[in-house]
Amino acid sequence: MVKYDFDLITIGAGSGGVRAARMVAGEHGKRVAIVENLRTGGTCVMRGCVPKKLLVYSAHFGHDFEDSAGYGWMQGEPVFNWPILIANKNAELERLESVYHRLLRNAGVTEIAGTGRLADAHTVEVDGKSLTTETILIATGGWPTMPQIPGIEHVITSNEALDLDALPKHIVIVGGGYIAVEFAGIFNALGTEVHEIIRADMILRGFDEDIRESLRDEMTAKQIKFHSGTKVERIEKTNQGFTVNLNASEAVATELVMYATGRTPNSRDIGLEEVGAEIDDKGAVVVDAYSRTTVDNIYAIGDVTDRMNLTPVAIEEAMAFVNTVYGGEPTAMDYVNVPSAVFSQPPVGTVGLTEDQARERGAIDVYMSNFRPMKYTLSGRDESSMMKIIVDRASDRVLGCHMVGVDAPEIIQGISIALKAGATKAQFDATVGIHPTAAEEFVTTHKKLPDDD
Ligand code: NDP
Repeated sequence: MVKYDFDLITIGAGSGGVRAARMVAGEHGKRVAIVENLRTGGTCVMRGCVPKKLLVYSAHFGHDFEDSAGYGWMQGEPVFNWPILIANKNAELERLESVYHRLLRNAGVTEIAGTGRLADAHTVEVDGKSLTTETILIATGGWPTMPQIPGIEHVITSNEALDLDALPKHIVIVGGGYIAVEFAGIFNALGTEVHEIIRADMILRGFDEDIRESLRDEMTAKQIKFHSGTKVERIEKTNQGFTVNLNASEAVATELVMYATGRTPNSRDIGLEEVGAEIDDKGAVVVDAYSRTTVDNIYAIGDVTDRMNLTPVAIEEAMAFVNTVYGGEPTAMDYVNVPSAVFSQPPVGTVGLTEDQARERGAIDVYMSNFRPMKYTLSGRDESSMMKIIVDRASDRVLGCHMVGVDAPEIIQGISIALKAGATKAQFDATVGIHPTAAEEFVTTHKKLPDDD
C-alpha cells in the first residue's frame, strides 16, 4: 500500500477548509495539512463578512446618535474617526486569526504557508516542496471580478474598501448585489456621498421583488443616488479623483470608485485541469452532490464550486465531506430553505422561495405587512419595515419569508427553523407573538394580498 505524507491536504484555510481540516484531524485522528497563501480565516473572516459587519455596526451608530435625540438624549455633534474604526477592526481580525491558528494547532493540523498546486492527483507542491496525500480538498474560495473597461485599474474592490486610509467624501459603487448595497449603506451612514450604478433596473437580482423595491426605496430615502439601467464606459483619473463616464453621456466626478460586480472561483493555476478535475466555463470546480470532483480522491467545497456562496453553506459542505469520506455516512448538503441576509441599511433577511418562484410551482397566498418600527416613533426616523409570507394554497405550508427592516437577519434566522420543519401558516398563526416586537408580525399578519391569479 502506498504510504502518503498525509491523509488529507486541504488547499485554502477559509471557513470551509478550516472546518474540514479540524474535523478530519481532531475528530477522526487523520494526518491533515492545510495550505494557505493569504491569511488564515479566508474571505469571510479576513476580507468579508466579519470586517464588513464591524463596519455595519459602526454605521448603525451614526443612525443611533440621530435617533437618540427624540428619546431625550442631548448631545453635541458626534465626531466619527475612520482610522480608529479601521485600527480596532484590524486588531479584532488579528485576534480571530490567532484563534483560527490555535484551533488548527489543537486539532493537530499541520499549517503550511504558501501557494498549493497539484502536481498529480496525490501530490501537492507548495513553493517547490512536494507533499503526498491520499485525499485532496480544494477550498480556495473566490476573488472579486470586474469588467475590463478603460480605467478599471483605478478602482478598488471590497478588499481595499475595508482598509482605506481615510473615509472618502464621495464614492461611486458599481454593482447592485450583496456587496454593493452593503457598502453603499456603510459609506452613506458614515457621511460619504454615495452613487450606486446598476446595469439592471433594480438591485439584488434573485431576491423577492417587493424586497428589492422596498430596500431600493429606503436607500434612496437615505440619499443614496441610484443610476439604474446604466453602464460605466470608462474611468478617468483627475486631479481631484476620478470621472466615471456613463452611457447616455452622463459623468460623475468622485473621489473613489468601488466595483462589486461579482466574484469568480479561485480555481485556476492550481493544476486542477491538468490532473483531470473539470472546471466549468465560469471557473467553478465541477462536483457531485458529495462535493467530489471528476477525480475520485479530489473534493471541492465552498465558493470555488459556485453553488451557494455563503459561509455557513461552505461550513455545512465541509461537514458533509467529512461525514462522507471519514464518517462512513455519505452526506449530501441540503440547499433547501437556506436563509441569508444582506446587511444593508435597513437590512434584509430571507428564507425560502420568492413570490415569483412560488407562483411557478402552483397557487399561493401572499401575506404582507408594512409598518413603522416602534423605535422610530419617538426618534422621527422616516424608515419602514416590510415583511412578506408566501404560503402554498393547497398544503398551507409556508414556502418563503422575507423581510426588510431593523433586525431582519436576526428574525429570519429564527423563522428559518419553522420553514425547515415544514411549518404551515396555521401553525404560524397559532404561535403567540412577543409584544411589542417586529418579529411578532410574522405570527399576527393575516392581511392576505388580493389574489391576482
Ligand atoms: P453578486 O453576484 O451578488 O452581484 C453582482 C452585481 O454586479 C449584480 O448587481 C450584477 O448585476 C452586477 N454586475 C455583474 N457584472 C457586471 C458588469 N460587467 N457591469 C456592471 N455590473 C455588473 O456579487 P457581489 O460581488 O455583490 O457578491 C459576491 C457573492 O458574495 C454573492 O453572490 C454572495 O453570495 C456573497 N456575499 C454574501 C453576503 C451575505 O451573505 N450577506 C455579503 C457579501 C457577499 P445584474 O443584477 O444585472 O446581474
